[in-house]
Amino acid sequence: MKRVINFAAGPAAIPLEVLEQARDEMLDWKGTGCSVMEVSHRGKEYEAMHLETMDLFREIAGMGKEWNVLFCTGGASTQFLMLPFNYLGPGKQADYIVTGNWSKAAVKEAKRFGAVTFPADMELPGEVFKSIPKQGELKLNPAAEYVHYTSNNTVCGTQWHYTPDAKGKSLVADMSSDIFSRPAEFGKHAMIYAGAQKNLGPSGVTVVAIKDGFLERANADVPTMMSYKVFKEKQSMHNTPPCFSIYILNLVLQWLKRNGGLEARGKINEQKQRLLYAAIDGSGGFFTGLADKDSRSWMNIDFKLPSPELDDKFVKDAKAAGIVQTKGYRTMGGIRLSCYNAVSLKDVETTVSFMEDFRKRNG
Ligand SMILES: *Cc1c(COP(=O)(O)O)cnc(C)c1O
Repeated sequence: MKRVINFAAGPAAIPLEVLEQARDEMLDWKGTGCSVMEVSHRGKEYEAMHLETMDLFREIAGMGKEWNVLFCTGGASTQFLMLPFNYLGPGKQADYIVTGNWSKAAVKEAKRFGAVTFPADMELPGEVFKSIPKQGELKLNPAAEYVHYTSNNTVCGTQWHYTPDAKGKSLVADMSSDIFSRPAEFGKHAMIYAGAQKNLGPSGVTVVAIKDGFLERANADVPTMMSYKVFKEKQSMHNTPPCFSIYILNLVLQWLKRNGGLEARGKINEQKQRLLYAAIDGSGGFFTGLADKDSRSWMNIDFKLPSPELDDKFVKDAKAAGIVQTKGYRTMGGIRLSCYNAVSLKDVETTVSFMEDFRKRNG
C-alpha cells in the first residue's frame, strides 16, 4: 500500500486511523452484521451514533446546550439559500462581507430572498482577492437581519484572523474550509456552517450549528427540507440523513478529541503554515505568495513560480515524489497546498524539502 501526501482542496485527506477503523467496521458495524450504510436510520444503533456525533461536535467546539447541531445535505452551497430562506423576505436585508469566490456565491443566492448590503467587498479587478478587511473598515447596516462572512477563503488563500464584531447583529459564518483547524470564538456567532469534506470528513453532510435565540427568529413558512426549525425538531432525521457521511464525521470528531482537540490542532496547523510560508518567503523570489501577508490562510497556501510552465513542472514533479493535488484553482493558476487537519506536520516537512530541492534544480 502506498498513501500519498494529499493537498486536495476538497474533498480532502481524511486521517488514516479513521479510514482504517471504517474499513475494519465495514462488514459488521457494532455487531449488527451489516455496514452502517445498511441499517435503518430509525434503529437504535444508528440513532445513538447520530446523536453522539452532535454531542461530540458541541463538546469539541465548547458549545453549550443553547447550540443546536444540524446535519443538512446539499453542501455548503445549499446553506447559501437555506439561510436567507429562513431569515429574509420582502423588505428584509442582510449584510454580506465579500472576501472571496464563496462569499460571492452566497450573495448570489441571498439576493433571491431579500436585499443584500456589503459592509466590505475586497474584490480587486479580475476576480482577485488578496486581503481581509479590518474591523474599522466594516460599514455595518443597522437594518440587517444578520451579518454573513466566510472565515477562510479556500480559493484565494486568505483567512480571518479575528472574529468580526457584528455590533449586536447575528453573526453567521461559512467555516467550510477552516472549521476545527484551531480554537475559534464560536460564542460570538449566531450560526456557523461547514460542508464536511474539507476538515471534518467526507462530502454529503453539512454541519450547521445554530443558537436557540437565532433559530427562534427563523421564518415559519419555509418548505420542510429548507427549515432550520424542522431540522431541530426532528434532530436532522425528518428524512433519511446521509448516514455514512455522518458516521465518518463521528470517527473524525473522535480522532480530533483523542488528539487534544482544537488547542492541539491549532498548534500543529500554526507550525505547518509557518514552515510553508517561510519556504515561500525565503526562496529569493522563486516562490511568490498570492495573498497579502497579514491575511494569509493557514489552510490554503497559494503561491506561484516564475512562469506557468514552472507551475506545471512543479505539479508534475511533486506528483512523482508522492505529493499530489497541488495545482492552483483554475481561475488562480499557480500552486495551492490545502493543509487541512489530516495533512500532518511531517507531510509538510517533506513537502518543504521537496520545494527547496525543486528550487535548486530549477531556480
Ligand atoms: C468548498 C466550499 C464551499 C462549497 O461547498 P459545497 O459543499 O461543495 O457546496 C462553500 N464555502 C466554502 C468556504 C468552501 O470552501
